[in-house]
Amino acid sequence: MTAPAAAPRKPIILTVDDDPAVSRAVARDLRRKYAETYRIVRAENGPDALDTLRELKLRGDTVAVFVADYRMPAMSGIEFLEAAMDLYPMARRVLLTAYADTHAAIDAINVVDLDHYLLKPWDPPEEKLYPVIDALLEAWNADGGHPMPNTKIIGHRYSRRSSEVREFLASNRLPYHWIFADDDEGHRLLEAAGLDDRALPVVITETGEPLVDPSNTELAGRLGLSTEPRADFYDLAVIGGGPGGLAAAVYGASEGLRTVLIEAVATGGQAGQSSRIENYLGFPDGVRGDQLADRARRQAEKFSADLITTREAVALELHGNTRTIRFADGGSLDCRSVVLATGVSYRELDADGCHSRDGDDSSLIGRGVYYGAATYVAAECEDQEVYVVGGANSAGQAAMNLARKAARVHLVVRGPSLEASMSYYLIQQIEATPNIEVHTNTRVCRAFGGEGLENLTLIDGTTNQTTDVGCTQLFIFIGAQPRTDWLPDAIARDDRGFVLSGPDLKPDSGWPLDRPPHHLETSVPGVFVAGDVRAESAKRVAAAVGEGSMAVMFVHRYLAET
Ligand SMILES: Cc1cc2nc3c(=O)[nH]c(=O)nc-3n(C[C@H](O)[C@H](O)[C@H](O)COP(=O)(O)OP(=O)(O)OC[C@H]3O[C@@H](n4cnc5c(N)ncnc54)[C@H](O)[C@@H]3O)c2cc1C
Repeated sequence: MTAPAAAPRKPIILTVDDDPAVSRAVARDLRRKYAETYRIVRAENGPDALDTLRELKLRGDTVAVFVADYRMPAMSGIEFLEAAMDLYPMARRVLLTAYADTHAAIDAINVVDLDHYLLKPWDPPEEKLYPVIDALLEAWNADGGHPMPNTKIIGHRYSRRSSEVREFLASNRLPYHWIFADDDEGHRLLEAAGLDDRALPVVITETGEPLVDPSNTELAGRLGLSTEPRADFYDLAVIGGGPGGLAAAVYGASEGLRTVLIEAVATGGQAGQSSRIENYLGFPDGVRGDQLADRARRQAEKFSADLITTREAVALELHGNTRTIRFADGGSLDCRSVVLATGVSYRELDADGCHSRDGDDSSLIGRGVYYGAATYVAAECEDQEVYVVGGANSAGQAAMNLARKAARVHLVVRGPSLEASMSYYLIQQIEATPNIEVHTNTRVCRAFGGEGLENLTLIDGTTNQTTDVGCTQLFIFIGAQPRTDWLPDAIARDDRGFVLSGPDLKPDSGWPLDRPPHHLETSVPGVFVAGDVRAESAKRVAAAVGEGSMAVMFVHRYLAET
């Protein structure tokens, strides 16, 4: 007779508070809502809580959320959370504070990467406690709570395509397990699939099906993302799935328009790469860009917007009141109105080894040189010296994020200081982070190595002196440009390619109607623009979301006129 299988152990929510009455009250409220799925563990001081955590770790238990009081005599809540992070880095962290300690809690956001500070008292818990814990559990389940993912990528450490496949899965928040082809496990899997390391990268799906060097569309389809529109005619087609496009899709679909969103790579756009957006209204503790994007995506789907990924729009044709959008890999769809929300893409660094046009031999892109945050490799920079190029907020955020793992982060800035280009709060955070070194008046002029990046040549802008430094990971954030050259000439743009709209349209833009264009309406009636791709836009998440939502209001007006 076989023994019955043990019930899976519940993940834990651990609370620590030195005031027994408060400690009991937190545990009671948490049990009331979460006891069915989570085990609530209570401790009355930091050292005891850490002992408990060590036992839990040895027993193989997982912790989803810590709720720690700020003021505790033996060990403060911040000290406890810092130590607890070593044992359970993926657990979400909440600090309980009195109103008078709010400033300390805000500082803790950086020290222990706090997810939330909760003011005491938290009555009624339905309004003040549960929404916070719900959101954190959702985030934990989305990342840390996952068991080892079953999708496997077997690839070469220094292969650009392997890197692209990882980036694609990561940016679509599809969990995977990355295995080096030259590791024992890699050999075993390739042998089992009847393949060898000439067929890389190989993706093994959850059902055990090996895919040899799959395209993004093939991957998306196999992994459950929609790649085909469900209909061939829509009221509204939104092109681009960043915050602007997602907002337009949410508002369009929720207001009854048959809405499709077309995204070339992954929903979230640039915002999906942000490790922490701190200035988006309603998130006082900041929010990770990929989480924001994931929520927006689900919201759009809830309202039945049709979201299709890995389909790049390459042509917009105008046939009377019908607009036809053509895709790069063939196929098309028709619609009555369009919101262009294609954002911007990174500019390439003019340095040897960093050009995409160089081809696979001399370009080190994906082999140590990365445009953007490349979160899928950023996690692997433990104890390394990494370089970040750029002086704006995106570079600053990346430096702060990398500094949590890397031995040292070198921020290479062309200008004489960060002040002109970076927000004050980020400059302060960087100054307070001892393992970030800022190199002003400096440029990277060459990246070189063997199979992967090994060295950089830096040039001092004041003396013109060059220095070679060892570096295996370089992250580049040097501004961005719109990719609008596929749009028809009838859509007026400024001299940098940003789309003109509403009152910014010039008299010679070719506007064909007697009525003036609506706000956000381009020189083609019924084609609107929102977010970073719009000329003179603010280049902020909130602005893109606002414009995406507002564009839908004008879409309604346009549709009512036609
Ligand atoms: C690392 C980083 C950190 C940032 N941090 C902050 C911050 O803290 N706060 C803040 O306010 N802003 C921040 N920003 C800026 C913010 O992310 C952008 O302003 C915002 O994402 C713009 O949204 P968007 O929808 O206009 O375009 P994007 O986010 O650029 O999205 C455009 C989308 O369109 C898709 N697309 C492009 N062309 C096509 C096509 N032809 N067919 C189909 N799809 C297409 C792209 O793949 C992309 O997904 C940050 C940006 C970066 C890169």
